[in-house]
Amino acid sequence: MKLWCEHAWLGGPRVATGVVLDIDGDRITAVSEGTDRLLDGAERVSGVAIPGLANAHSHAFHRALRGRTQAERGSFWTWRDQMYRLAARLTPDRYLSLASAAYAEMALAGITTVGEFHYLHHGPGGVPYADPNEMGEALTEAARTAGVRLTLLDTCYLHAGVGREPDEVQQRFSDRTADAWAVRASARRGGCLVRLGAAIHSVRAVAPEEMEVVAAWTTERRASLHAHVSEQPAENEACVEAYGVTPSGLLADRGILGPAFTAVHATHLTDDDVVRLAESSGVCLCPTTERDLADGVGPAAALRTAGVELCLGSDSHAVVDLFEEARAVELDERLATGVRGHHAASDLLAAATRGGADSLGWPEAGRLEPGALADVVVVATDSVRLAGAGADHLLDALVFSATASDVRDVLVGGHWVVRDGRHVTLDVPAALASACADAWA
Ligand SMILES: [Zn+2]
Repeated sequence: MKLWCEHAWLGGPRVATGVVLDIDGDRITAVSEGTDRLLDGAERVSGVAIPGLANAHSHAFHRALRGRTQAERGSFWTWRDQMYRLAARLTPDRYLSLASAAYAEMALAGITTVGEFHYLHHGPGGVPYADPNEMGEALTEAARTAGVRLTLLDTCYLHAGVGREPDEVQQRFSDRTADAWAVRASARRGGCLVRLGAAIHSVRAVAPEEMEVVAAWTTERRASLHAHVSEQPAENEACVEAYGVTPSGLLADRGILGPAFTAVHATHLTDDDVVRLAESSGVCLCPTTERDLADGVGPAAALRTAGVELCLGSDSHAVVDLFEEARAVELDERLATGVRGHHAASDLLAAATRGGADSLGWPEAGRLEPGALADVVVVATDSVRLAGAGADHLLDALVFSATASDVRDVLVGGHWVVRDGRHVTLDVPAALASACADAWA
């Protein structure tokens, strides 16, 4: 396959024109710029080609909460009560149809790699299913159905809070011990489009010695390790009270931080926390969820300046649009500081592509270069949002004005998953409507 792209973003501060991508099987084999006419045998790609987007933090089932959590003033914690009501209703079949539809919505938005922070493991009362990984299997099947890559971050979640037993809904999340979590997680398999990683839910839900079991499991497998870190001030306060250090400090003391580790949210950090994370770890920001839940605005510029590789996640799926996540990193920080220009468009798009791929253990994804996976997103430049930008301003227009609706075609591993704005195998709006109705029935 040979694609001739009118424009393409190859990682620098501007888009290139007349870019030819040679693709063999699931890989890009050659990239050349400045070819001003369509080559024989090449398919013309109108618009701008970018690497597949990576959604590094997803809880697929939260998609069914959309529109249902805005009515009352509430807080993060009342939002969580509603999320728990939904979690209590889900069966493996409902989980499969909801995740399939949610991942297909992501494919339409140009997301080709998803990091699923998966903690809904067991049946009601914490009783394991006949296959203890049935819920995780539903997610991997959902990713294959939607045609996207998945890193299943199997999440250890053992306590309601420091030293507190899980409540009734949380029992579905818990393996009771970290060793039992490891036994169950070890029984899982990866496969085509699917890789395995792990997550520590939070310092609330996993004790320090239990974190070490999860970290050892990922080290042994060279797998990605994620954790929710400092999303809410209350989490920091509880951690300081219990352990005398911040969540990042606790993770550092226990040897959890490192190249395989990504801190999700990292909203309420001390200066020392920024330094600790910068020594080796990544950070995943989820701005549309963080604003929806009134979490706050994290120190993204300080983290990036300190050397942290940033990535992005749609988390609760209040919105599934990585262009919106990317620009929110800059725009939210403008509001918080009264200063513009913290992050260049190329840095924000890098976070949405290779930053997420690196965090999820797909270092060969998220870039348009020889040897990379052939995951390509084509964004229309003739939409009302991008028309008139011109090549010189296209990258800024893409990051600061495009929406998921401007994604026209999506290639995953050399196969078209989205063509002309439609998923090639699924009626995605109908699938979402049916899955959400079924989840609440
Ligand atoms: Zn989350």
